[in-house]
Amino acid sequence: MAKIQMKTPLVEMDGDEMTRILWKQIKDTLILPFVDLKTEYYDLGLKHRDETDDKITVESAEATKKYGVAVKCATITPNAQRVEEYSLKKQWKSPNGTIRAILDGTVFRAPIMVKGVSPTVRTWKKPLTIARHAYGDIYKDVEMNIPCAGTLKMTFEPSDGDAAKRQEEVVFEYKGPGVAMAMHNLEKSISSFARACFKYALDTKQDLWFSTKDTISKKYDQTFKLIFEDVFEKEFKAGFEKEGITYFYTLIDDAVARVIRSEGGFIWACKNYDGDVMSDMVATAFGSLAMMTSVLVSPDGVYEYEAAHGTVTRHYYQHLEGKATSTNPMATIFAWSGALRKRGELDGIDELVKFADKLEKASIETIESGQMTKDLYAIAEIPNKKSLTSAEFLDAIAKKL
Ligand code: NAP
Ligand code: MG
Repeated sequence: MAKIQMKTPLVEMDGDEMTRILWKQIKDTLILPFVDLKTEYYDLGLKHRDETDDKITVESAEATKKYGVAVKCATITPNAQRVEEYSLKKQWKSPNGTIRAILDGTVFRAPIMVKGVSPTVRTWKKPLTIARHAYGDIYKDVEMNIPCAGTLKMTFEPSDGDAAKRQEEVVFEYKGPGVAMAMHNLEKSISSFARACFKYALDTKQDLWFSTKDTISKKYDQTFKLIFEDVFEKEFKAGFEKEGITYFYTLIDDAVARVIRSEGGFIWACKNYDGDVMSDMVATAFGSLAMMTSVLVSPDGVYEYEAAHGTVTRHYYQHLEGKATSTNPMATIFAWSGALRKRGELDGIDELVKFADKLEKASIETIESGQMTKDLYAIAEIPNKKSLTSAEFLDAIAKKL
């Protein structure tokens, strides 16, 4: 067959450890034989980030803004131990954090479902996508240990000096020691989050749910609720009606109860902390972190696809000892298929869209036919299931493809 031609390049962000090994294997086995792949390559491997003083991460995010679609391999976020292991100049920031800050994006996480690996929650039939607001709240809070009795106040001093806008509230009159915390958020960040969610719902033709605790938090959470309502009414209502999808707001505790009873198949937008907690719950209940995909969507429609898991360090050390590992490449394959599909849609290349569909179908059918990696082997209810190494599993997919 003639290879499928591309127009615009994909931004390719290479990464670290075991996922870097899988990255090359996936390209060689599943993509390069079929697609005349055009990418602009950025090596975000920790060594190269260190050599470039992390400029490469910023450049890759800027290229993503320019071209519109990126695919990213998992990367190490260095801690003190990594600084030593890689003799780093400094403890560089999380690449994902840097990229997210530049693209002003929202992260959507969705599980890959296969027959025979059932979610722990019986009623879930379709993937449940979690959208997490990735700015502010408890992650950028200010905290205090209160040592003794006293008064805690919160004050706001307007920069323009207008006394009418000055505010002061007594938070609490302490009779003895305790703790305190102040949080903030921004209208601009909340409306960006809302836009990214509505846009992604339209894109994927799924209902959107949003939940806060506005009955208790009458200014803070209420603002989130009102901004979502406003953005929806003004910019998205007509589009939703046309696609036959709905926007649904409810209290966080009611949302939790409804999610558990639901069939899945919708997007659940969560505030920062709720999204942190719920995305781990949903990932676990769907079976495996290795089957969780992740896409960063910016409010102006830029997409960066990746796996939700990390660089699978433990497997990488086994690989370095010369052992063939059984690391699950599914989420990374789906990052590639997601990016190729989006590129195909934007450039009007139907063949590329179809290839992405076929790649996903072949991967899922390979597992459903009983060939899988060790993590799934442990939980799958599939007759005659076999546990394969990563390389054997990729070959099995290629054969089906
Ligand atoms: P991890 O790489 O996600 O792996 C944690 C464990 O989950 C693995 O040891 C493995 O369990 C299992 N696992 C995850 N992905 C798997 C896969 N594809 N196939 C099979 N098993 C899989 O998390 P981590 O070990 O905490 O972090 C390692 C590095 O990744 C860190 O340096 C961290 O900074 C980085 N990280 C990067 C990203 C990102 O780039 N988006 C996200 C998270 C973490 P078993 O050992 O039991 O087999
Ligand atoms: Mg978490």
